Amino acid sequence: MNLIEKVDRGIYAIDQMWTGNPKFSSCYLIEGDKIALFDTGPTTVIDRVLDSVKKIGYSPGDISYLIFSHIHVDHAGGAGSLCKNYPHLKVFAHEKGVPHLANPERLYKSMKRVFGDNAEKLYGNVIPVPEDQLHPLKDGEIIDLGKDRKLEVFHTPGHASHHLSLYDEKNKVLFAGEALGLYFPEVNVCFPSTPPPEFDLVSAVNSVNRLEQLDIIKLLYTHFGSARDPHSAIQRAKEMLIDWGRVINEAMNESNDKSYIFERLSEEALKCINHIKNDTEKYNKYKELIEYRSTFTCGPGYVRYFKKGGQVL
Ligand SMILES: [Zn+2]
Repeated sequence: MNLIEKVDRGIYAIDQMWTGNPKFSSCYLIEGDKIALFDTGPTTVIDRVLDSVKKIGYSPGDISYLIFSHIHVDHAGGAGSLCKNYPHLKVFAHEKGVPHLANPERLYKSMKRVFGDNAEKLYGNVIPVPEDQLHPLKDGEIIDLGKDRKLEVFHTPGHASHHLSLYDEKNKVLFAGEALGLYFPEVNVCFPSTPPPEFDLVSAVNSVNRLEQLDIIKLLYTHFGSARDPHSAIQRAKEMLIDWGRVINEAMNESNDKSYIFERLSEEALKCINHIKNDTEKYNKYKELIEYRSTFTCGPGYVRYFKKGGQVL
């Protein structure tokens, strides 16, 4: 299976094949005078990602920068392990996320709480990034890789308070991270990614509104690949964030029963795969994914947001 795709001039998507699952999690190798990786994935995929880096034509030592969309373990869990072997690496993340890379204890504990004994198997060890390798980023900063490759930092809270996206204005490429949710190129479907404890609907929609203003030819997701039509994908991401919020809020007003609330969200979310209803195998695959996420990530994220007094839009 080919795990590398050249998605634009000087930009390669690397499929992490996390838990053996193709086309779910990726990171991006970005070329300039300096070489950067945008997200790395958890420790369990690092060897595979470095193999792909070699296949693209670089040795792991050629990478200068690691830039993280956010510090959740599925995106940045491997940062510490990489830094241990490559102490020259500079690690960039939003200033609010940087302390958790230096001291990942809280991340590790929440990973253990959610995944129990499976956590290590899924994500591997999470070790600290040495402080002198860490570089906090603010909204509006530019990371200049040289050779006309400038990456502007957009602070895009919502999925997490410290989430950031990168915009390459010259080449009209947006590295969205998870700010626009998940995208499944196989079926041209996107949907919100709204996990507890930090998901914030108002921030998420404000972030989408900012990204919507950009001139984008290539829209790249960490989960997964590039959108066929960036502007309609952004539009849909916003509508779904708002619609899902309304459904959850309504269900919470009707009942305290979480399984009822999550079922209502599933029903709403399933609308996005209506167009593949005739392809039973594919439909069932995405149905299962939607039901899982409605119950374990997206639903609980909205519920927590509303319980904290969050606004409906
Ligand atoms: Zn993720």
